[in-house]
Amino acid sequence: MLYETVVAIDGPSGSGKSSIARDLASDMGLLYVDTGSMFRALAVVVLERGLSPTEENIDKPFLDSLRLEYGISPEELIKINGKNLTESIREHHISSMASKISGFTTVREFLANFQRNLVRQKICVMEGRDIGTVVFPKAFCKIYLTASDKIRAERRLKQLREKGQGSYKFEDILRDVRERDENDSKRALAPLKQAEDAKKLDTTNLGYQEVLDALKAIVLKSAKEKDVEL
Ligand code: C5P
Repeated sequence: MLYETVVAIDGPSGSGKSSIARDLASDMGLLYVDTGSMFRALAVVVLERGLSPTEENIDKPFLDSLRLEYGISPEELIKINGKNLTESIREHHISSMASKISGFTTVREFLANFQRNLVRQKICVMEGRDIGTVVFPKAFCKIYLTASDKIRAERRLKQLREKGQGSYKFEDILRDVRERDENDSKRALAPLKQAEDAKKLDTTNLGYQEVLDALKAIVLKSAKEKDVEL
């Protein structure tokens, strides 16, 4: 069996995927790919253009008219049509629009193609919701990262406060986390779920370094077993 040279990390929002996947990739010299940033960047464009989020509006010709660039540098993580959206994708109100449009076939196909092209260029640590199940079903290493919804809401609130967006209440963030979990795991297309051959890691009671060490060990073991050169 030919494996795809990608470390697929899936899991719900706030499971710690983003920061840990970034550090894992940098420690191992691999390209870090945050697929959520791509859904978010499309959400920014939809909002900026005042489009109502329907599959008719966000169709293939519209998506094909957008020039997406990923990973030029941490400061220029994501650009559309030359505009750097790295900061604006992190605003809180973008999350729910990203979640909404992520249920559209057009959007998922457009981004899955873009993601597959990135892996052709370099071994990646790619994180999202459907990387191990749909985008790269033959990934040599699959990890499902999760944590309780309360701890995920706490982490999200801390992140927002660090960014100066401190006016949110814990209850509101928890409600958002639960709504997004529901949206992401119940949608018909590429729902959030653990791939059968993914290794599950619950980070609720783990510190950052413990999670990072555990992930590294999983990646190295998979690479050895599947004969993938990192
Ligand atoms: O990971 P992040 O929270 O930034 O993702 C924002 C939204 O994009 C998610 O709530 C989800 O709806 C969508 N998404 C997705 N598939 C991915 C990555 C993100 O549907 N692979």
